[in-house]
Amino acid sequence: MAEQRDPDPIRQAFLTAFPNPNRVGCPGESVIRALVHDQLPVDHPASRHLGECSPCLKEFLELQADWKRKQRNRVLLASAALVVLAMFLGWFWKKHIYLSHREVASNHVPTIVDLSGDSNRGSSKVLTPPVVSHSTHDVTFIVKLRNEPGDYEIELRRASDNQLVLRFPGTVSTDQAGRKILRAQVNFSQVSPGSYLLLWQPRGSTTKEVAELVVQ
Ligand SMILES: [Zn+2]
Repeated sequence: MAEQRDPDPIRQAFLTAFPNPNRVGCPGESVIRALVHDQLPVDHPASRHLGECSPCLKEFLELQADWKRKQRNRVLLASAALVVLAMFLGWFWKKHIYLSHREVASNHVPTIVDLSGDSNRGSSKVLTPPVVSHSTHDVTFIVKLRNEPGDYEIELRRASDNQLVLRFPGTVSTDQAGRKILRAQVNFSQVSPGSYLLLWQPRGSTTKEVAELVVQ
């Protein structure tokens, strides 16, 4: 490592002023190290010796610089460890928590389910209930034109025995095509495949709409 030029002229002077080639009265490295680590009282004779012995002062300054560098590295290492930990937690959160909720929504456009009955209008054949994928999280239902915009309460009931499976809120609004749409965040992954009835009613009202729905 290249020796850095000491910018302090007084210290420079002290580093050469007291050569002490025979190291007379030098306390030894362990004592100097203890001084660096602040483990000795300020009036310890070794402190005084530093002012009278250039080699010991040099040793002291080198040990001190080394110690400071290690302290700095320790702080840097701790910071780096924190960054790595934060990155890991972020990754873990995204992989195991965020994605488990948003898995489908992030990969697919929201599911649109037509419950208006309009697509079957004029058809004489047996109506096929719309199908919702088991992995749907974010769903937009196209509902009846008579459904007023506002907050709705939605229920999903098993078709076979009318057992309540899910209850969740939604909002009806009018889209650009003039259709009434009911938007809701619902996790169909907890719903077993099968036939269901979807019931929706304006909050505080008793007028329910019902449509069949198949989850697969
Ligand atoms: Zn000395």
